Amino acid sequence: MKRRVLIEEKTLQNRVKELAKQISEDYKDKNPLLVGVLKGAFVFMADIIREITIPHTLDFMAVSSYGASTTTSGVVRILKDLDAPLFNRHVLIVEDIVDSGLTLRYIMRLLAARSPASLKVCALLDKTEAHQSMDLVDYRGFEIPNQFVIGYGLDYDQYYRNLPYIAVFEEKVP
Ligand code: 5GP
Repeated sequence: MKRRVLIEEKTLQNRVKELAKQISEDYKDKNPLLVGVLKGAFVFMADIIREITIPHTLDFMAVSSYGASTTTSGVVRILKDLDAPLFNRHVLIVEDIVDSGLTLRYIMRLLAARSPASLKVCALLDKTEAHQSMDLVDYRGFEIPNQFVIGYGLDYDQYYRNLPYIAVFEEKVP
């Protein structure tokens, strides 16, 4: 498999620390609920919560992704819903990557209907060009070009989630 490193491990770690610091300041005394979107966000979630210094709880939901394709189908399916109610909680959605923004918009509509005290988004990667909307993401790790990336939780056909860096997926060599 050909890959080109886009974001080095150290650069990722530093940015995760910065995001966690900002979140810890903004959510001080708010006891936020962090909602991770599986599977891609699990590595980011695990790293960011260990840098967040304020009390918080977390939950996960799972939605369908692209399968073995690298382009969006536009169809979002909930595979696992949240365990805990959101009513009156300060909810922060933790996403791995925002591409077209379809998944995020769908999740936000769903969660907003459950009357949280607030609802914001932290996304590690944002393909801003792809969805042309700066207002979806409140905490953004990196803006990246419109290319398919893998690593740090992100997969191609369920593989490569273990890479400690973000790479552009170029081709699969059997
Ligand atoms: P959207 O609905 O914003 O188009 O796509 C969001 C979801 O598609 C992400 O949560 C992720 O699962 C998947 N996705 C989008 N772009 C990429 C990418 O470059 N690499 C990988 N591995 N998944 C992506």
